[in-house]
Amino acid sequence: MQDFVKILGLKHRREVAGKSAIFSGEHFVLEETDWYLLNLFRLWWHYGISFLRLQMWVEEVMEKFMRIYKYQAHGYAFSSLEELLRSLGGEAFVNMTQRSVAESLLEVGVTQRFVDDVIAAVLRSSYGQSVLVPAFAGAMSLAGAQGSTWAVEGGNKLVCSGLLKLTKANVISARVTGISLHSSEGRALYQVHYESTEGQGSAFYDMVVVTTPLHPSRSNFTFENFDPPIADFPGAFHPSVTSVVHGYLNSSYFGFPDPKLFPFTSILTTDTPDLFFHAVDNICPVNVSAAFRRKQPQEAAVWRVLSRQPGGGGGGGGGGGGGGRVLSRQPLDKQQLKTLFRSYYSVQVAEWQTYPRYDAARALPPVVLHENLFYLSAVEWVASSMEMVAVAAKNVALLAYNRWHQELEKIDQKDLMHKVKTEL
Ligand SMILES: Cc1cc2nc3c(=O)[nH]c(=O)nc-3n(C[C@H](O)[C@H](O)[C@H](O)COP(=O)(O)OP(=O)(O)OC[C@H]3O[C@@H](n4cnc5c(N)ncnc54)[C@H](O)[C@@H]3O)c2cc1C
Repeated sequence: MQDFVKILGLKHRREVAGKSAIFSGEHFVLEETDWYLLNLFRLWWHYGISFLRLQMWVEEVMEKFMRIYKYQAHGYAFSSLEELLRSLGGEAFVNMTQRSVAESLLEVGVTQRFVDDVIAAVLRSSYGQSVLVPAFAGAMSLAGAQGSTWAVEGGNKLVCSGLLKLTKANVISARVTGISLHSSEGRALYQVHYESTEGQGSAFYDMVVVTTPLHPSRSNFTFENFDPPIADFPGAFHPSVTSVVHGYLNSSYFGFPDPKLFPFTSILTTDTPDLFFHAVDNICPVNVSAAFRRKQPQEAAVWRVLSRQPGGGGGGGGGGGGGGRVLSRQPLDKQQLKTLFRSYYSVQVAEWQTYPRYDAARALPPVVLHENLFYLSAVEWVASSMEMVAVAAKNVALLAYNRWHQELEKIDQKDLMHKVKTEL
């Protein structure tokens, strides 16, 4: 993603300082202060050296994960997610998609209390799920929480529109309804069927990459003439609701009767059954000018409330970051809004089929669906973020190229760390 930002001449959005705290439903279990050393002291006081153990664990995972950039720079690709993970961190990395982050952290000496208070809060605010999230997805989310994340000035979507323009892609604005298999001179040919406001259409392609999840609650197109057939993969997506509220936060609810004294801009929560929200953040615009300042705590500001869809049912959101559906109904009911806000001017609600429901161990979906038919979104079952998808997209591009040109020595190679060191 950094490369894309550089190539497109975009820049990072300016950071706006703010403090976080973790709320249990009754009180704050951890509060950030302006002083780095005091923050460290508080962590040590409450949790011993758990936070150091966590940091070391996340750093080790990230260091291994970053080998992928070197492999890809040398043109190596992987035909399955398991092969990709194995090449980065051995069998341990593959296992990290099958066991929970809690289990992995307890094993390296992180305490149960730290898992319950801190890890749970981070996972609720990112994936909206519990510490049963698999270790690999958990590590990605925890790496993000350590403060190294960034956004693009003007909005992350500028990366997508910029890349489409740069590559001179021929975009057909339509909904894909199906892909059917044909053959031409012994080679597979894929007919992509679609419908748009202008009616139905189709086109033939040598290669197709599917970039939306093929799971019952999300995929909405069919595959024809494939033997064996390609069907939806098992698993479900996790429904969640984002409410963007312009109003006055009710700081009394958080134990601060005087709003002027409320110091936090981001409130995470522990896994408390009665809590109706996962996180509340004071959000900044996509353009942050040099003069921009956060509102004072007693002023009206724009807050994002993450909550679970009532009943947790399916419903048809679009894809990940690109396809949320704005609904007219209000998932946070009036009483809940009154609990969190003294008063408000507006509430905008977006319901998402956000991330895979990571609660159960299951086989990862395939990357190769047919000869030259690839499935990029399979990677979301390892971990879901823009960086993961960008890495998976490069893998699919290299894989497709290597397979097409029969450069098989560039696919699923073992001992790549050694190979890339000795290659020029
Ligand atoms: C609420 C939320 C917050 C997130 N926050 C972050 C974050 O802070 N940082 C981060 O790195 N990641 C974040 N993510 C994850 C990130 O958005 C995804 O990993 C990323 O968007 C995946 O990119 P993608 O192109 O693979 O899929 P998507 O962005 O899901 O794009 C798929 C596209 O395919 C389209 N589509 C679906 N079906 C069809 C069809 N039949 N025909 C034609 N088009 C179709 C969809 O409309 C959509 O535009 C967040 C996700 C959500 C839901």
